[in-house]
Amino acid sequence: MIKIKYENTEKMYEEINNLIEDNDFDIIVISTPKEMKEVFNDKFLKTNKNIVISSRMPKKNDEDYVYVEFIKQDVYAIAVDGPSGSGKSTVCKIISKILNINYLDTGSMYRSLAYYCLKENIDINDEFKVFDELNKLNITFESSKIKVNGEFLGDKIRTNDVSMAASVVSKYLSIREKLVDMQREISHDKPTILDGRDVGTNVLPDAKYKFYLDASAEVRAKRRFDEKKDDSSYEKILEDVITRDRQDKTRKYAPLKKASDAILINSDDMSIDDVVEKIIEVVREK
Ligand code: C5P
Repeated sequence: MIKIKYENTEKMYEEINNLIEDNDFDIIVISTPKEMKEVFNDKFLKTNKNIVISSRMPKKNDEDYVYVEFIKQDVYAIAVDGPSGSGKSTVCKIISKILNINYLDTGSMYRSLAYYCLKENIDINDEFKVFDELNKLNITFESSKIKVNGEFLGDKIRTNDVSMAASVVSKYLSIREKLVDMQREISHDKPTILDGRDVGTNVLPDAKYKFYLDASAEVRAKRRFDEKKDDSSYEKILEDVITRDRQDKTRKYAPLKKASDAILINSDDMSIDDVVEKIIEVVREK
């Protein structure tokens, strides 16, 4: 990270352009004090590489500084596992934007399958029927959003019923093998942040960065309740969160557990921004 003291606009662009000439990079990340982001104009930067301008709350004595960071974008993966409601997807979306990398929500694949099984009245306790249904689905991603048979499923896969059914269909080996293959394929040639249950232990055991995001069942149920994806009561959501944790942690294949080399983050008393900051800090230092 290079710090540039802001004296006047012209000088700042000149200094950054000199740095651009001297550095080999794929992405330049410029972090400015909040008010400056509005006026920072990247058309004065002499590069056709990716430019990310982000704003930050200045700390004491750094209100007049712009931080410049040059990033070489090698192919790497960030695995973020943890139970439902621990904040994984929100955090991963933000990080993928900050680092300008791909985001893969692996849970959305199990959810989509569960959604179609419920919609088509497939008995989710019958592995063969569920696998048959999976073979009828054409799963793709566009701008990190899942598209199944040409349709964006959006919030339809976020209801409590779909969550519970996803936890059932995800226990079958045939289902996991097929979806895990797709997850590896999607992330193999570009830097990707993936969230799920078994990314660090099973999908990408060699991922460069691994995190396990946790929070108490009560805090997680409260977060789900506040999202109001359907009209289940807090008590019902809490009961389901506990059931789903048990199913995900005790299943035979790729159960939810922290990889031994994953960094544990308990988000009970942390805001989303705190968690994002913590992960970014590790990624930038390693
Ligand atoms: O993360 P999310 O709550 O969207 O995941 C829905 C369900 O899909 C989980 O409860 C879990 O049973 C399953 N899942 C999984 N492996 C993953 C991601 C999700 O088994 N990598």
